[in-house]
Amino acid sequence: MGTVLSVEKLSTYFKTDKGIAKAVEDVSFTVNEGEMLGLIGESGCGKTTVAQSILRLIEYPGKVVKGSVHLNGKDLLKASNSELSKLRWKDISVIPQSAMNALNPIYTIGDQIIEAILLHEDVTKKEAIKRTKNLLEMVGIDGDRWKSYPHEFSGGMKQRVAIAMALACNPKVIISDESTTGLDVLTQAQVIALLKDLQRKMNLAVIIISHDLPMVTAICDRIAIMYAGKIVEWANTDQILKDARHPYAKALLNATPDLSDIGRKVQSIPGSVPNLVNPPKGCRFHSRCPYVMESCSQIVPELLEVSPGHYTACLLEEIRHG
Ligand code: SF4
Repeated sequence: MGTVLSVEKLSTYFKTDKGIAKAVEDVSFTVNEGEMLGLIGESGCGKTTVAQSILRLIEYPGKVVKGSVHLNGKDLLKASNSELSKLRWKDISVIPQSAMNALNPIYTIGDQIIEAILLHEDVTKKEAIKRTKNLLEMVGIDGDRWKSYPHEFSGGMKQRVAIAMALACNPKVIISDESTTGLDVLTQAQVIALLKDLQRKMNLAVIIISHDLPMVTAICDRIAIMYAGKIVEWANTDQILKDARHPYAKALLNATPDLSDIGRKVQSIPGSVPNLVNPPKGCRFHSRCPYVMESCSQIVPELLEVSPGHYTACLLEEIRHG
């Protein structure tokens, strides 16, 4: 299982009235072929900024100031605009936060998918229509509905159409950016199950961006936990569930209801995410960390491998050395 996407030391800043907000700082991770990676954290932790930086969708006053994003060896951050437009859809695509952002209400869903296929693939219109119908069938929608308009579909079905659109040009990597937010719980579960099923069948690499820890732990192979613009823990899902090391990762797990252990008390995380215009020196979690030491406000903890494939950014000796 080779690496498809490799993000190295990615940093994205935004100019604000109050100064430079360091929204994403030194974020590194990889995604393998056929793997589902969950990027998780509280609201405002930088997950969506990571996705937008990967896709080069950051606009002024934001800027990717450092790092690289290699997709099959090609650095997306250095690609020309024409190279990038070829890579988007065909190599990497996105299922956005709301299907309404993906679908234009004045065109039929079929026309929108067909247009994407014709723009990026050397096929005839007849072949594009056939593929569109197949894509709709794959996401559980009658292929003959390709002439329907977005308003003729429910929220869950629109999200299925957004998945079909993301798959239109057979990409190797898909980023799902909170794509089930706003749907009712049952529809969310159905859309996520569909995405997992397609990911397996098509051997896709998928990045799931979410604040929903139970959903991410249920479907992802590996999980990267973000806090205040940085990845603080990155490991396979079992390691996160059974052996989370970083105090924030542990706190996040404790703050999440567990249906298999209804007797367990859910503990909220005291304090709030720091202002990223003037992020705290040292470890960004130090004002909320129950294990804080003097060095935590001075030294920035690096993401270190604490056991095979398990990375944590914390200065505690027992965490670094197990
Ligand atoms: Fe807590 Fe210090 Fe570890 Fe940060 S580095 S998580 S403040 S112990």
